[in-house]
Amino acid sequence: ARAALKESSGGPGKTKDGQAVQLLANIGKVEDAEKAAKQDLEGVGLFRTEVLFLDSKTAPSVETQVKAYTKVFQAFGDRKVVVRTLDAGADKPLAFAPSDEEENPALGVRGLRMDRRYPQLLDDQLTAIAQAAKATGAKVWVMAPMVATVHEAQAFEQRVKSHDLPVGGIMIEVPAAALRAPHLIEKVDFFSIGTNDLTQYAMATDRMAGELAELLDPWQPAVLDLIAMAGAAGKAADKPVGVCGEAARDPLLALVLVGLGITSLSMAPNGVPAVRYALARTTTAQCEELAAAARGAIDAAAARSAVEALVDPEI
Ligand code: PEP
Ligand code: MG
Repeated sequence: ARAALKESSGGPGKTKDGQAVQLLANIGKVEDAEKAAKQDLEGVGLFRTEVLFLDSKTAPSVETQVKAYTKVFQAFGDRKVVVRTLDAGADKPLAFAPSDEEENPALGVRGLRMDRRYPQLLDDQLTAIAQAAKATGAKVWVMAPMVATVHEAQAFEQRVKSHDLPVGGIMIEVPAAALRAPHLIEKVDFFSIGTNDLTQYAMATDRMAGELAELLDPWQPAVLDLIAMAGAAGKAADKPVGVCGEAARDPLLALVLVGLGITSLSMAPNGVPAVRYALARTTTAQCEELAAAARGAIDAAAARSAVEALVDPEI
């Protein structure tokens, strides 16, 4: 019965009481985008553009980039596409944007920080995104990874607008950005929380460290507190706050995120139906109760158990 019910409901994400929660896809390659576009979801919440250029020896020309972005935008028609600017460094080295040997690459020159060294890369990318957006008429939002300060947020927003792109935002991946969310949200149009990196940095645990998996759990109440800060800041400013890390595809955690003020959830496309189903069976007020229960727990396991005890057992 459960599987049948899950398949019978589709369309835009909403809670039981009808509050919209956009269900979006995380994509990298153009082929993934084309596949995801055929599915019942509302657009793209995270287009990891660096994935397109991992094998490039030289910086991709504006023309090359326009071609790739155009294919993605066309695939999604009038659905929203949130493009993340190049997130190179650390785990994703790009040959055309070499980093120095770093003792701690996760804490080094990565994400938006690359712009200090290679400003032309971001300008070319924004030029290409703007051209592809104009040519296709797509609803394109642009965001930067690894933002830590108000100054970075403001400078990025200015770059986005100077390229005639209408919507600019930042990822919340660094705890400092979550702690200062009310100040950062004033400078941008939206937030998107990257729970993979936010958890890594909040818990001081390498995201690749399997041995420390229990620390690297987005159910950690400390991580939920940081997400709550970003969600509350968005709510107060009436600006959208999404989640695009792996946490968004856990149906129970998705409910908690909505209870923390999150307005969209972006995930691997195959995660969407289960999250849509969980939302449809839970009211916003219940999501808020779940969020309070999770934040009141002493650790990640207790937070999950507390939520499991309260939700509709069909979820
Ligand atoms: C994240 O950090 O949660 C995120 C979505 O970005 P990535 O996984 O590409 O670092
Ligand atoms: Mg990240």
